[in-house]
Amino acid sequence: MRRRNHESRDFFCLNCGKQNMPIHRNTGRMKEAGHRKKLYCPWCKEEVNHIECRTQEDINQFKEDFKAGLFVEEAAASIQYIKESRVDFNV
Ligand SMILES: [Zn+2]
Repeated sequence: MRRRNHESRDFFCLNCGKQNMPIHRNTGRMKEAGHRKKLYCPWCKEEVNHIECRTQEDINQFKEDFKAGLFVEEAAASIQYIKESRVDFNV
């Protein structure tokens, strides 16, 4: 059974692994699966890198990778970066 490309992109937080709000894109520019985007995560209450998933396979892969801890450092680095910039803003 073939699945059509759906219009919305699912973004998953690299820090908590939860799904963020889907973003609808109408442009013809297709980003590669695995594209990172910094979004505010309502669960982490931080801006964290999210991974873009286009298909159920992408989502399954993300969940496996997340469980394996592949994103721990990247998530921490993205949060740390934000905190450092906030400090800079306050100086
Ligand atoms: Zn999160």
